[in-house]
Amino acid sequence: MTEIMGWSMAEARGLKFYYTGKPCRRGHIGPRYTKSRSCVKCEQETNATKMGAIAERAVAYKKANPDKVRAARHRYYEENREAISEKNKARYIKDPEYRARQLGRPSKEKAATDLP
Ligand SMILES: [Zn+2]
Repeated sequence: MTEIMGWSMAEARGLKFYYTGKPCRRGHIGPRYTKSRSCVKCEQETNATKMGAIAERAVAYKKANPDKVRAARHRYYEENREAISEKNKARYIKDPEYRARQLGRPSKEKAATDLP
């Protein structure tokens, strides 16, 4: 990976990355993608920024629309009830911590009878 190679050489050899040894415009010294010629580190930073923005928007949406989010979650559960149940059963068998948490959690019926 640290072999210095121009883009045309990498292209000719069909390599996914190439390495010039020269800093990119943001000062990273590292591999570049042959396809886009862009710096791998720059792409990663751009993606992280974009993902952060998407996550922030999702959090804001959930805060602003709690009813819609609850309804969507409920709809998803109704549509995937079987698969979710199977997954939880498998986890219950495999994961001792999860099992302990489930056993320690009061059931809905029990919680209802605890009410005054
Ligand atoms: Zn860069």
